[in-house]
Parts: sequence; C-alpha cells; structure tokens
Amino acid sequence: MPEPTTTTGSATGPQDADALTGRLGAVLADPARRPLLLALDFDGTLAPLVDDPMTSAILPAGVEVLAALAGRPGVALALVSGRAMADLHALAEVPPGTYLVGSHGAERARVTPHGLDRDVVELTAEQADRLAALGARAAAVARGRDGVWVETKPTAVVVHTRLAERDVAAAAEQEALALGAELGTGTLHGKDVVELTVLPADKGSALQALRHEIGAPVVLYGGDDVTDEHAFAALDADDLTVKVGAGATAARYRVPGPEDVVAVLAAVERATR
Ligand SMILES: [Mg+2]
Repeated sequence: MPEPTTTTGSATGPQDADALTGRLGAVLADPARRPLLLALDFDGTLAPLVDDPMTSAILPAGVEVLAALAGRPGVALALVSGRAMADLHALAEVPPGTYLVGSHGAERARVTPHGLDRDVVELTAEQADRLAALGARAAAVARGRDGVWVETKPTAVVVHTRLAERDVAAAAEQEALALGAELGTGTLHGKDVVELTVLPADKGSALQALRHEIGAPVVLYGGDDVTDEHAFAALDADDLTVKVGAGATAARYRVPGPEDVVAVLAAVERATR
C-alpha cells in the first residue's frame, strides 16, 4: 500500500499539541468527565520505532510519567497495540492497574502487582486449523525474500517487511493480502506489516468495549499507524483522538512524535495532582 499522503494544517485538518493541551485542561477540570481513559498505542507512539521490534522501549520519561499517573483518581491507563499480549507485556514498562489490549483487540489483560491478569483467548477448531494453514502459506510468502519474516500470534499470522527492500516488501505485502482474500480471513495492512487474523478484532471495537466497562465518559487515544484509524473512527465526537506523526488521519489532533505524547501525559499528570 502506498504511504498515505500527509495532510497539511488546513482548517479541517487535525489541530496541534497546544490545542490538545487546552482541551485536555477543560476535560480534566470537569468532574463529570472522569474517569478519563488515557489509551495509547505502543510502537511509534510511546516507543520510538526501531528496526528490531524486540528492542522497542517506552521513552524513559514516559515510563516515569505513567508510573506517576498510576492510581491517580479519575484517570485510567491502557495500552492498545497490534502486538501479541506476551510481547506487549514483556516490553511495556507500565504500572499495575494498566489495561493491556493486544493483537488489535483480540487479547485483553490487566497488569497487577503480581503479574498479568489475562482473559483467555479460545479459538474454535476451525479457527485453529485456519491459523495453521495461514502460517504455512505465509512462510512461503517470506521464503527467499530478504528482510521478510513471519510472526505467529495466538490469533493471527503477521508478515513483517520492515527490513526488506521496498520492491521486495511491496511484493510480499501484495501476496499476503491476496492470501488473506483467498482464505477468507481478516486482513490488517499496517506500516510494514500485513496481519492475517482468524479472530476478527480492531482497536476501535476493543477501545469502545473497555471504555464502557470502566465507565469513561472521555477517551484520549493516540496512535501512529493506519490500524489506529479504526480507533479514531470508532470514538465519539467528544473524545480526544491524536495522530502521532505524519500521514492522513481522521484524528482531531496531531503531535509530531513520542516525545510529544509524553509531554501530553505530563500535562495530565500535573493537572490531576
Ligand atoms: Mg504504532
């Protein structure tokens, strides 16, 4: 898929970080709008993008501010990622009480002082068979293509192309999408990844379910990828949707990168002391 075109600061485009901070101030000043659900994507949003996904880490200032926000009355924290839950939990240095949403919503858990309290993912026999078939076929897509590799998650198979030459990546992604269409399974096309899932999930549905569970009148959601657009589209008009970095978006606000996301969290931290 071609890189989405960057929107400019037109009157209808997303507003900047100052506008976001101002709006956040108004939300936090109104007790009727608590709890505020602060939900964030992980890679490219709290953690700068790196070539090896297993070395991804939240900015140190982000770890600190999340720890300070933990247990703050009227604030709930969540990470909403495409990563498998096991990966997300291993990498995310987040405080107890934080909700973790993995595999684009197919996996859910909550961090506790004693480890992870996770909801069990159960596949039907048909889904398990389809997952195995997808794994074998995806491995064939990656074979012979430098920089293309396959990850198997509990509910999906992911073809990664981040380290491949551009034309190699494009060919692999097209084949993976065709495979999804052929096997009639859900596909998600993100930055340098094609995910083929047997358990349909998207960040928007997952986030709305979580906010209803905890009774959050307002959600702030930030993300950098095309899969985060599901969340931006699913949230309500009063919610604060934040696109991180360049690219076309339905979000109402835009910030340049993870440092700016941490600055927004710091503003919430100061306002809720
Ligand atoms: Mg991301």
